[in-house]
Amino acid sequence: MKKIQMVDLQGQYAKIKDVVDPSIQEVMDSASFINGPKVHQFQKNLEDYLGVKHVIPCANGTDALQIAMMGLGLEPGDEVITADFTFAATVEVIALLQLTPVLVDVDPVTFNIDVEAVRKAITSKTKAIVPVHLFGLAANMDELLELAKEHNLYVIEDNAQGIGANYTRRNGSKIKTGVIGDVASTSFFPSKNLGCYGDGGAIFTNDDNLAHTIRGIVNHGMYKRYHHDVVGVNSRLDSIQAAVLDAKLPHLDEYNNTRRNAARKYNEAFNGHPQITIPSGRTECDGICSTCDCHVFHQYTLNLRDVDRDALVVHLNENGIPCGVYYPIPLHRQKAYLDERYNEDDFKVTNTLINSVISLPMHTELDDDQINFITQTVLDFINNSK
Ligand SMILES: *Cc1c(COP(=O)(O)O)cnc(C)c1O
Repeated sequence: MKKIQMVDLQGQYAKIKDVVDPSIQEVMDSASFINGPKVHQFQKNLEDYLGVKHVIPCANGTDALQIAMMGLGLEPGDEVITADFTFAATVEVIALLQLTPVLVDVDPVTFNIDVEAVRKAITSKTKAIVPVHLFGLAANMDELLELAKEHNLYVIEDNAQGIGANYTRRNGSKIKTGVIGDVASTSFFPSKNLGCYGDGGAIFTNDDNLAHTIRGIVNHGMYKRYHHDVVGVNSRLDSIQAAVLDAKLPHLDEYNNTRRNAARKYNEAFNGHPQITIPSGRTECDGICSTCDCHVFHQYTLNLRDVDRDALVVHLNENGIPCGVYYPIPLHRQKAYLDERYNEDDFKVTNTLINSVISLPMHTELDDDQINFITQTVLDFINNSK
């Protein structure tokens, strides 16, 4: 059996080397390293793939989120509601812009932001909601959009983990995550579902004015050369990364299908076990996300009951199986984001998940032998520690 990795980027590269290498070589030969033709080509191709009017490439997913908020003109003191159970980048940029982060609990089934918790957190200062399509599963966008409309709030999707996922609207139509709210951010960090070989990110929007504003912000607030109309940042996707991404984009659906296939095999092994809850979806799909396209499995995460999760982590590692705990500490208890307004009773779900979730190896190169070995090792541990 091949050595099991949490993410196998070497195996993936070996299969696409013959398209990636010439694409990078083109950039080297042209010496157009910043904002070269590759960046524009990738931007155009991603716009077509997503069905969105504007993709604005930038340096990473954290910048993308920050720039989206700057583009919307959010101001110090404005409250921005986001999920307590996510990667810190989401809350970090809110705080960095001197906006007020308001963390709320998540749904115990989807792990995504809880719409009722958002509703309760809305005040006269609330300006935006940031749903994260956590682990690759679309958040409950129809209800969030409705709530946002009612209170005149922006919806900024953090799509760093969800690229390629579909969301099924109430009317049955499908739309890609990242083009549903007012604006969205994504990350091309190497381990993301569409990853480059360094840092990268992008902002998506259908709003022409917002896109114009954001294009200036990413480039030092310049709309005309050496005229700085607003305070901007320097955040660019370099041409070499765009070359990698443009070579990988045609494979994105296939990559996400491969992830779903792996998830299906995991599910078959774990489904029905009294101490294991498999990743499950929202009610409009069949509730098991590996059988529809609402989940792109950035992570495959189990929710355990009456299992010593940390001992399982040690056991898996001892057997050569890497695994992850995303996320071990809720954001509302992180030193940087402590706020006396928070009440532990309002974070019951997150406070449970941090001790009960475990993410198993998930990538495009997992084979059946590896999956069988992983599921068997997990099940043996749980069944033998009763
Ligand atoms: C990865 C990630 C980011 C940040 O992306 P970077 O490219 O690493 O800056 C933001 N939000 C979420 C949910 C992520 O998973």
